[in-house]
Amino acid sequence: MQSPSHTLGEFALIERFFKTRSETMLASTKSIVILGIGDDCALLVPKPNEELAITSDMLVEGRHFFAGAKAQWLGHKALAVNLSDLAAMGAKPIGFTLALALPTADPRWLEAFSNGLFALANTYSCPLIGGDTTAGPLNICITAFGALPMGKAIRRSGAMAGDDIWVSGTVGDARLALAALRHEINLPPTDLELIENRLHQPVPRVELGIAIRGIATAALDISDGLLGDLKHLLESSHKDAEVFVDRIPKSVILQKMKVPLQTQFAACGGDDYELCFTAPSSQRIAINNIGQALKLSLTQIGSIKPMQNNLATISLMTSDGQDLDANTTAALLKSFDHFA
Ligand code: ADP
Ligand code: MG
Repeated sequence: MQSPSHTLGEFALIERFFKTRSETMLASTKSIVILGIGDDCALLVPKPNEELAITSDMLVEGRHFFAGAKAQWLGHKALAVNLSDLAAMGAKPIGFTLALALPTADPRWLEAFSNGLFALANTYSCPLIGGDTTAGPLNICITAFGALPMGKAIRRSGAMAGDDIWVSGTVGDARLALAALRHEINLPPTDLELIENRLHQPVPRVELGIAIRGIATAALDISDGLLGDLKHLLESSHKDAEVFVDRIPKSVILQKMKVPLQTQFAACGGDDYELCFTAPSSQRIAINNIGQALKLSLTQIGSIKPMQNNLATISLMTSDGQDLDANTTAALLKSFDHFA
């Protein structure tokens, strides 16, 4: 591997910004990681009757974030999007690896990146256990590992006809932040700061994922937009769905926008990292109790229907039972596609 070209060498960089901090974490938390950074591989000893959940997510400059984005935010977000995938399966984080391509080894950038990364890693006692570092265009790839009791993962494929569809928190803020940063929309500075935070520092719903194990029949995290992601869940479960558009939870800030834009951002905006899950209606009280315990709003936005024609169809309506017109429906159901 070629070393990043400047003063700080590859190994000094790993030692200073990753290895030392990771060792501090490992020393202070009980963990199934018995060997972290420094050898050819990390070593984990899985607990009996547990299975491993493994996920990777990449952040690429120009695609997932603007050039010059704050390094601290990038450190946070790169890990947050992976922990969000673990949350969606109900897995408890146990560790992660970091593959990093850097144009230059700028100590100020690395310090801020590492601060953002480890602040979140510490929150979930999820140590960095290895990785790779190379010179190249800025690219951050994290692989996260989680633990689950055997057979208890919440898959996308388990939704049953009659189940409620739930969404955590609010959706659409990250998309609103993007519109503001692109100067398509003007927001007062205090609102801008709040919703920019939603875009740059998403909170992975790890506690929620663990809490709904055994209650939710299917789940996923909302990364590409609520309706597009819900469609993936329906495809896996071979079901249709009915969604009440006016029930989709929106922040106070998003609710200040014109109604069609509110609906579009909440239904289709990406980067929210909330969870969408299904559960039998007999679980409503249990789910409301979980929301209260976690101080996280959980909103029932619709229900699962038997599949009609193999298409995983989402019918959009208002809560008083009116169908949305065909044009609005078609526009809302266009999900985000990275290669479109
Ligand atoms: P190898 O050449 O054997 O793959 P490296 O020289 O790339 O090993 O890395 C040395 C050690 O540092 C390994 O334990 C590796 O996991 C770790 N490492 C390298 N880059 C990172 C990084 N960005 N974050 C965490 N650990 C890293
Ligand atoms: Mg290597």
